[in-house]
Amino acid sequence: MAADALDQAKTKVTEAVDRLAADLEAISHQIHSTPELCFHEEKAADWLTTFLEKHGARVERGVGGLPTAFRATVEGKAAGPTIAIMAEYDALPNIGHACGHNVIATAGTGAGAAIAAALGTLPFAGRIQVIGTPAEEGGAGKVRLMEAGVFKDVDAAMMIHGRCGTQVWRPTLGIIKVKCEFFGRASHASSWPWTGVNALNAMIQLFVSLDQMRQQLRPDARVHGIITKGGDQANIIPEHTASEFYLRAPTKDYCKELLQRFEACAQGAATATGCRTVVTSDPIIHDPLKANFTMAELFGKNLERIDFPVDPDDGEAGYGSTDCGNVSQALPTIHPYIRISPDGIPGHSREFAEWAKSPLARVGMVAGAKALALTALDLVARPEELQRAKDEFAKTRG
Ligand SMILES: [Zn+2]
Ligand SMILES: [Zn+2]
Repeated sequence: MAADALDQAKTKVTEAVDRLAADLEAISHQIHSTPELCFHEEKAADWLTTFLEKHGARVERGVGGLPTAFRATVEGKAAGPTIAIMAEYDALPNIGHACGHNVIATAGTGAGAAIAAALGTLPFAGRIQVIGTPAEEGGAGKVRLMEAGVFKDVDAAMMIHGRCGTQVWRPTLGIIKVKCEFFGRASHASSWPWTGVNALNAMIQLFVSLDQMRQQLRPDARVHGIITKGGDQANIIPEHTASEFYLRAPTKDYCKELLQRFEACAQGAATATGCRTVVTSDPIIHDPLKANFTMAELFGKNLERIDFPVDPDDGEAGYGSTDCGNVSQALPTIHPYIRISPDGIPGHSREFAEWAKSPLARVGMVAGAKALALTALDLVARPEELQRAKDEFAKTRG
């Protein structure tokens, strides 16, 4: 009986996603052409919440103290588990939606809106929520929402991310973000250079040391940075330079080891040049994703149900990172990738930004919305599956 009810609900919700697809694509394109940076996603949050409300979800704006966060709830017929579908909608500086968060936004929102539109109230105990999570690129919005208790009552969470292939499970790396500054002494670069202490030389030395350190790192670790201040004018010996780095690795422990080695490189560069260094690490550490194969399997079966192909991982790319990793360490979570570009198109590139508004992106967004909605329905309609996901989570903690 319950199986029939679930199957009928899935069919109705799948059809609803198809009906909403054109409107969802229009919002996706609007977000794409109006890129908003972390914590400033006012327009995107407005468009998404208006859409969810229009289709019958109960919307709360500014949850967790973040003005551009939101929560949209579809209640069930009785009290029960809470399943969250996460939506991201922030862009990158200068290159816009080169991570395709416009697709994440409309897939997650589309899933929630379709459930609300098709079912009104869930014919099961529990509730499904769309949680709008700002500032994935650089702000760790999900960590802030978790600290504010937005995920407190959530039993399982999920989202999709666009990629150059569809993979239900793919690891991500942890990150420690650091800022490194050098302080020297200004002087005339031509008439009194020997009285100056050159903070740019220290910065260049740091980059050289890190390049050498990289030879002795594990192959999946990543250390990369930019100089945010290199000096003020060529005729002044730079007295202050600044940089930002991401230190990434598959485990938090190795991230911490990278930080120690980074600090030694910075100290060495300071000593060699007579400067003083200050290394400041962000207290928020991005966790690597913790897999949940129970949920991933349900998601994969739902992709099968809608005839959307999964691709073998070509092994051509390294791994990125996400604040969804921190969610996945707190509760059963999945973060599948859905194809929105041809093979081999790198994320954070101008090419990927173009693909994020392509017909292929629409196909991926629709498939993502359906598979998210159907997997959320599985978890409220089949308590034994949710329990399996929780048992797996408990067994593999850490
Ligand atoms: Zn990104
Ligand atoms: Zn992203």
